[in-house]
Amino acid sequence: AARLCSGAGGEAEAADGDGAMLRHLARKLRASGPVTVAEYMREALTNPGQGYYTRRGGVGESGDFITSPEISQVFGELIGIWYISEWMAMGKPNTFQLVELGPGRGTLTDDILRVFKQLTSVLSKCDVSVHLVEVSPKLSEIQAVMLTGGKVQPNPEDKSAYMKGISKTGIPVFWYRDIQDVPPGYSFYLAHEFFDALPIHKFQRTEKGWREVLVDIDPEVPDQLRFVLSPSKTPATQNFIQPEETRDHVEVCPEAGVIVQRLASRIEKDGGAALVADYGHDGTKTDTFRGFRNHKLHDVLSAPGTADLTADVDFSYLRKMAQGRTATLGPIKQREFLKNMGIDLRLQVLLQNSGDTATREQLLHSYDMLMNPEKMGDCFNFFALLPLHRLVHPDKKDKPESKSPLPPVAGFNELLLK
Ligand code: SAH
Repeated sequence: AARLCSGAGGEAEAADGDGAMLRHLARKLRASGPVTVAEYMREALTNPGQGYYTRRGGVGESGDFITSPEISQVFGELIGIWYISEWMAMGKPNTFQLVELGPGRGTLTDDILRVFKQLTSVLSKCDVSVHLVEVSPKLSEIQAVMLTGGKVQPNPEDKSAYMKGISKTGIPVFWYRDIQDVPPGYSFYLAHEFFDALPIHKFQRTEKGWREVLVDIDPEVPDQLRFVLSPSKTPATQNFIQPEETRDHVEVCPEAGVIVQRLASRIEKDGGAALVADYGHDGTKTDTFRGFRNHKLHDVLSAPGTADLTADVDFSYLRKMAQGRTATLGPIKQREFLKNMGIDLRLQVLLQNSGDTATREQLLHSYDMLMNPEKMGDCFNFFALLPLHRLVHPDKKDKPESKSPLPPVAGFNELLLK
């Protein structure tokens, strides 16, 4: 099963044998008091020693949750076509970087590179390189095996990257811990199920005004965590709640905001585009913070470090953080995006080419997972950042007749299959 799209909570499970992360947090909370949900989430997911992504990795059938690229190769292939379509619409620049944030097992980039290889004749004069932003040493190893067969060089001297290699298709691949380390240049960015893993702050409206939800140690039960409300306003309640807010409970992910600002500035300056795909909402949902372990909902406060923690992405916040530096498109539902990208035609071709019933059943099953509104079709969304001139002609009032129509952006409009 994929991660569900709504419904916080879940039954508490017994803690894993090693409660190292819980003991570490309990010590910290006893010594210096409650922490924000964002601090808790950051520790639980990416603490360099004990964090969930650092140690467990989680993605895939044998892990805690499965994602669209792990379900079907078609997903990554269509995204590969999206980049080629945008590259052509932007006048086929002679070089681009493909930059993926949080690449998981590396499957998505692997599928994209296969499409690039198949379209060598189209991309022949273009110098392509791959740049992966990944904090987890464990996952970067898995990505290295997937993309390069494991032939990588750690800490290359000539680069800001912590690792480099050459893909099976002959393209240079670099790894970084932070988007800021990726060299500037014309780039296509990709973030699939990345923003939902970044730390959120949670706020609750009370009779006395907005209060921040904090994580504390339960004084009654040893080594058990609980939510409490801040006794007064916190810096975050002052900064992140809009005066016109109508909801009673709000989640904000400032780190997502900072990353979108960076993406938007880079695209404005050097050109390119960003494609963000995730579950989320447009500034309407309230409590979406949840945990997953072994493909089941897991209490977010139980056995930290052993379960994936996640919250819906607020696309209205991402749009706001682009601050008009780029245009934005979406969010559009996954099933509409994939349909516009030609998933039905691709499925037909694969079905025709597959001889055995088991493969055909597998193809139909994975199509259903991605497209069914009750499964991943409706709750996953696509969202894009594009240079302003990609959607609106620069003003040429004096010569309106010289304007040729701008090509539509694939996925967000129906793709014209020629
Ligand atoms: N995109 C993949 C994996 C999603 S899981 C897929 O769809 O299958 C989230 C990914 O983001 C993991 O690779 C995780 O290690 C990475 N990640 C989480 N927090 C991160 C951070 N702050 N910086 C960089 N990568 C991060």
